[in-house]
Amino acid sequence: MSHTATATKAASAFARDLPYYAPAGNECALFEQAYRQRLPLLLKGPTGCGKTRFVSHMAAKLGRPLFTVSCHDDLTAADLTGRYLLQGGETRWVDGPLTRAVREGGICYLDEVVEARKDVTVVLHPLTDDRRLLPLERTGELIEAPDDFMLVVSYNPGYQHILKSLKPSTRQRFVAMSFDFPPPRVECDIVARESGLSHERCVALVNLAGRLRELKGQDLEEGVSTRLLVYCATLISAGMPILEATRATLVEPLTDDLDVQEGLLESIRATF
Ligand code: ADP
Repeated sequence: MSHTATATKAASAFARDLPYYAPAGNECALFEQAYRQRLPLLLKGPTGCGKTRFVSHMAAKLGRPLFTVSCHDDLTAADLTGRYLLQGGETRWVDGPLTRAVREGGICYLDEVVEARKDVTVVLHPLTDDRRLLPLERTGELIEAPDDFMLVVSYNPGYQHILKSLKPSTRQRFVAMSFDFPPPRVECDIVARESGLSHERCVALVNLAGRLRELKGQDLEEGVSTRLLVYCATLISAGMPILEATRATLVEPLTDDLDVQEGLLESIRATF
């Protein structure tokens, strides 16, 4: 086999393994630059608009292992760095996902970082300046992050409680980019590809999502996400009647308020 044929085969195997991500702008180039310059990255944006998919796509593209942590209000620094555990009668130190990413030169993605306990910020600060250090108090280690380590965090400014927003002293340590729902043409491609529903039928769903998103703010905290649109199209593609599928995916998950639900259903009935 010629060199070119081998390279083409390797490239297509690589493309198969790459999680599908449809870019909306120059976010892939910005991510790659941040990685090459060893800068941490902050992704802002509503839930279900593709942040997690973007990070897994980029980690695969850059050939780095990915350690994803969904942060919640009980998550402490020790959950990220590691702890001593009793194993077979012996106490052994076990690295947490952040420490593994630093040791192995991977990408650590902290989803919804503002949800985590305050002590998490203390661990992140020395990692996000030019020292790039991870101090492990418990083991007495001070680990220097290798060039191929990258920290990526995300948060959703939309529904953040004022007390739970990122402090300027933390956010100003990151290169940041905003995410939003993809432009309609891109969103149609995504929904069609992820659900298997025809492109034509996805166009109608994406147009409907646009109208429902206009109601955000007045009656709804968040607009319908791309994730929910994919769910909706998947159910329709599996044979569920449109009105049933839209109610289950574009109405019920968004609100418990019956009047608001009725408003959403009216828009849906007007479309289909
Ligand atoms: P977030 O992390 O912002 O909450 P996700 O990355 O989990 O959202 O996206 C939710 C789903 O929406 C994905 O699983 C994928 O099916 C779809 N999706 C959203 N945006 C994109 C995109 N740009 N390219 C490919 N799929 C996308």
